[in-house]
Amino acid sequence: MILATDLDGTFLGGTPENRARLYQLINAHPGIRLVFVTGRGLEAVMPLLSDPGIPEPEYIICDVGATVVEGSTLQPVAKLLDEIEETWPGEIPIVEAMSKFPGIQRQDVPQARRCSWFCEPSDVTDEVHRVAEELGCDLLYSAEHYLDFLPKGTNKGATLKRLVSFMGESSDDVLAAGDTLNDLAMLDGSFKGVCVGDSEPGLLEATDKNAWILHAEEPGCGGILEAMSHFGFLGPQGVAHEGYEDAKPGTSDLVMVYHRLPYEEVRERGKVRRQPHSSPNGILPTLLSFFADGTRGAWIAWSIDDGTEQPFVTHTSVDKDAYPNLICSRVPLNKDDVDIFYKRFSKEAFWPMLHTFWERAEFREDHWEIFCEVNRKFAEKTAEEAAEGALVWIHDYNLWMVPAYLRERRPDLRIAFFHHTHFPSADIFNVVPWRREIVGSLLQCDYVGFHIPRQVENFVDVVRGVMPFTVQERQSCAPRFLTYGCAAGLGEMTKEIETDQRVIRLGAHPVGLDLDRMKQALDSRAYRKQRRLLEEEMGDKGQMILSVERLDYTKGVLPKLLAFEKLLERHPEMQNEVTLVIICVPAAQEIKVYQDLVADIEQAVGRINGRFAQVGWTPIRYYYRGFPLQQLVSFYERADVMWITPLRDGLNLVAKEFVATQGLTERAGRLVLSEFTGAAAELHGALLTNPHDINDLAERCYQGLVMPPSEAATRMRLLYDIVNYYDIRRWGEEFISGATALSEADTAAALEAESA
Ligand code: UDP
Repeated sequence: MILATDLDGTFLGGTPENRARLYQLINAHPGIRLVFVTGRGLEAVMPLLSDPGIPEPEYIICDVGATVVEGSTLQPVAKLLDEIEETWPGEIPIVEAMSKFPGIQRQDVPQARRCSWFCEPSDVTDEVHRVAEELGCDLLYSAEHYLDFLPKGTNKGATLKRLVSFMGESSDDVLAAGDTLNDLAMLDGSFKGVCVGDSEPGLLEATDKNAWILHAEEPGCGGILEAMSHFGFLGPQGVAHEGYEDAKPGTSDLVMVYHRLPYEEVRERGKVRRQPHSSPNGILPTLLSFFADGTRGAWIAWSIDDGTEQPFVTHTSVDKDAYPNLICSRVPLNKDDVDIFYKRFSKEAFWPMLHTFWERAEFREDHWEIFCEVNRKFAEKTAEEAAEGALVWIHDYNLWMVPAYLRERRPDLRIAFFHHTHFPSADIFNVVPWRREIVGSLLQCDYVGFHIPRQVENFVDVVRGVMPFTVQERQSCAPRFLTYGCAAGLGEMTKEIETDQRVIRLGAHPVGLDLDRMKQALDSRAYRKQRRLLEEEMGDKGQMILSVERLDYTKGVLPKLLAFEKLLERHPEMQNEVTLVIICVPAAQEIKVYQDLVADIEQAVGRINGRFAQVGWTPIRYYYRGFPLQQLVSFYERADVMWITPLRDGLNLVAKEFVATQGLTERAGRLVLSEFTGAAAELHGALLTNPHDINDLAERCYQGLVMPPSEAATRMRLLYDIVNYYDIRRWGEEFISGATALSEADTAAALEAESA
């Protein structure tokens, strides 16, 4: 069958449940050939094609019949369009002729082969009709407001008839659906048709006597489903048994969708053993803590299915005493999928782009398909576990497509997403070949959180290029965040937007630290031992500048080295007085960009040391390895200046760990921090620096070295208060409360219901 449907009020209308039912039915049923028939211009249909919840049409008739394109390529159906084009006089003669009617205003919407105006009924005079006739156009006046000039003989019905014969189908197999007088031309009895519930009275009146046109009870998609059953489309059993099956809700009230399990799995001699994560970052325990009160929940994560486990265990527990009602639902992935989805594609395509190094990004369609497939598996597991109306919390860009696949199955869920990585501006993000799909997926969420307002606003700007929406609420970023004080700052951010489909709330939640974990590290024997060793080595070496980062081109190690060289040149008194300690944690992957970077760093260190070293003083101490936190804190404590210089960083936890250590050990080291890190927007009191400017890097570091102790103490107090107060626990709680808060519209509705 062909389902030829109007969009607004029809295919896009109805209850969320009926929309999901109809869309799933179409997706599951190759026998349904979908055609959109709309008054919108093509550009105004494109946002819908980005919406992963809406099935892709085979053809799109837009501009009230004046445009016909293929749904997947948006290429014109030349055979049909040429005929329409022949009768069209062009836009300019119409606009010129209409300029003598000042009361009639041109509509500023995208359109082709058609000219639309706003017009009062009294303004549709004989003179206007005469103009249309002279130009050889049809005039369509609807809803007492919209006036359309169309090519002669063109309307939704005429174009649909031509398209149906072009598609080689019989008109008996067509169901046309609409809700306004605009749709009358395809509801004239040439096809079976439906006026969905709440249709315009004029349309109901005009189709009242026609046995081929059903007046459905249910609005939107519900009405279309009714008509499919009524006319016996899809065989004698109708829609009830075809392809569509309700997803059965699970029992979890809170579902974490995180790429990693909350414990590590080690495979040894054909057995899978569990151990705590070797480098817990404080986030896992925080996320787990939401299940400590007995909340029924699930944790969805991947696990290697290489045949070792027979059979593969789908569900495990984490710790029955601590989290009695939490289960882990393991998504089985083979090694190749993990390699592509997690290690290669994410790191080679998205990581560089997200950090604004888009030229380094490599986008491969075959990898994207695996990425989507893995995301779909995550969504299926989530749909199985989540209870009716449950809160689902999805984490980071690896799982960008989960909201799309999940919403399709479970319209009832409250879906929240936290983006742990930087989110770049639209000019950068738009290079991604699948930006429409990704944004369309994120817009299936009820709540999307980022670290800082700048990232929220970048996201909103990307959405702006994908589909129309209205901003429902904005809020000031101060006092929590820097406004104009740094590159990552912003005065105001968007809190709530509304698209055609839903209200999406947005939040800025910089990840915090687990202060207890820092205290435990400072209480450990490993810390004391490392501290002693460091003292023996550095005790009489003057001030220490510390730099700690993973090996990555985003971290700005090379510019920092060049800046250090400049500092020693410009301020020779610092020679023999300061030592730069660099801890650079090797990258997990052996890829060429990282190998080149190591070589460049080592060369620069060698050159600078060779140039400035004196007996008893080496300017740069370079560690190309990671330290456990217990040892790392001894460096944080000893450092006089912490020099953090990423060219771009979503947040930067090292900055916070330094502040926490200094605060807890009652010291007053100086934090010199790149203004391109998320943390810079939050950490009032840091000395901010621009890592793209070697002079500024050198001078801010110097300023840190010579800062009077009283100023350093004041700044550190400010910093420590922030890090201590906005800890990881508060981060999690604020995110959950943001994700479960009502939208402005919901709040108003609730208040109204209460007062009634
Ligand atoms: N880190 C570590 N050992 C080291 C250096 C760093 O365990 O020798 C940890 C550090 O404690 C911090 C993390 O690595 O928690 C780095 O996080 P950050 O947000 O600064 O950067 P990312 O690596 O996430 O980009």
